[in-house]
Amino acid sequence: MISKVISQDKIHKVEDFLNRYDKIIIVSHVSPDGDAVGSSLALYHYLSDAGNDVTVIVPNAFPGFLRWLKGAKDILLYEKYPEFANKLISEADLIFCLDFNVLKRIHTMGPVVAEAKAKKVMIDHHPEPGDFCDVTISYPEISSTSELVFRLICRMGDFEAMSKLSADAIYTGMMTDTGAFTYNSNNPEIYYIIGELLKKGIDKDQIYSNVYHSYTEDRYRMLGYTLSEKMKIYNEYGASLISLTIEEQRRFNARKGDTEGFANLPLNIGGIVFAAFIREDEDMVKISFRSQGDFPANAFSARYFNGGGHLNAAGGEYYGSLNDAIAIFEKALPEFAAEYNSNKNK
Ligand code: 5GP
Ligand code: MN
Repeated sequence: MISKVISQDKIHKVEDFLNRYDKIIIVSHVSPDGDAVGSSLALYHYLSDAGNDVTVIVPNAFPGFLRWLKGAKDILLYEKYPEFANKLISEADLIFCLDFNVLKRIHTMGPVVAEAKAKKVMIDHHPEPGDFCDVTISYPEISSTSELVFRLICRMGDFEAMSKLSADAIYTGMMTDTGAFTYNSNNPEIYYIIGELLKKGIDKDQIYSNVYHSYTEDRYRMLGYTLSEKMKIYNEYGASLISLTIEEQRRFNARKGDTEGFANLPLNIGGIVFAAFIREDEDMVKISFRSQGDFPANAFSARYFNGGGHLNAAGGEYYGSLNDAIAIFEKALPEFAAEYNSNKNK
């Protein structure tokens, strides 16, 4: 048996909503990752199998390595069909907000969700959840939202009803949010849950392959270029920075998701505990931070880039030039020297 984690009153409230409502929307965060798409599709299959009318809506496109997931092609992209999505959101009885803690993480969908008459349920694992849902299932100690969806379904007594398609999606989210169980993954219950998912018939080796063995040639060459030409090391702070301009991304025909995973790579270098990836996008500069030990990537992101996230994986957005973002990062590094020093010998 695994521990309960989600409090009983929250389980009751969700059960009550599900007894009363069947027009359901699931929303997740901008630039959806494996956990956003995985948790959403896991819940989508579970609720659809139970006879509900369910639509998953995300702000914009998700990476191609998640397209194999059953149901992925039916995910509505808000950016493409805002009016249709607005109609669905305003007519829904129940909205599940998955893998995000504050409305600004769903960009322009935020005000629409805020104003919707539907009851709202947050399922998330980011620190400091905002107060915009009727039920807030927020447990930052759990390494993925997908794991929380598994726990919720089980606690409602429906492990038996969970389909293999749900299990596939849950495993995908658990795997991607822990770097294939290489960080944030010391809780033994994670492996108990994987055992349960295997009983549902998932092929975990195939899922790994679907997600991680899916580079295009262009993407792999861009990775080589990035590591060889664009990585800066700051030994005195145990830090690194990689940056990419739009022009560089174009050179390699980069598509959505093609830089996924780049942020983590400098942590492979001995002595590096903090890795920054700063990427120029069309309308903003996207910042990603990864760290090891208790170096607080989320505090760094919150202080300098109005962002947030987890201790070891955080991000933010910067509205200005790529060079200015880099300058802010470099100027800020010495302020985190104490955090670096307390981590470097771990
Ligand atoms: P990534 O670097 O993969 O985009 O994001 C890593 C983590 O940082 C995400 O899971 C999310 O928790 C957080 N994050 C990324 N971008 C932002 C942002 O703009 N604002 C906030 N608050 N968190 C972010
Ligand atoms: Mn997540």
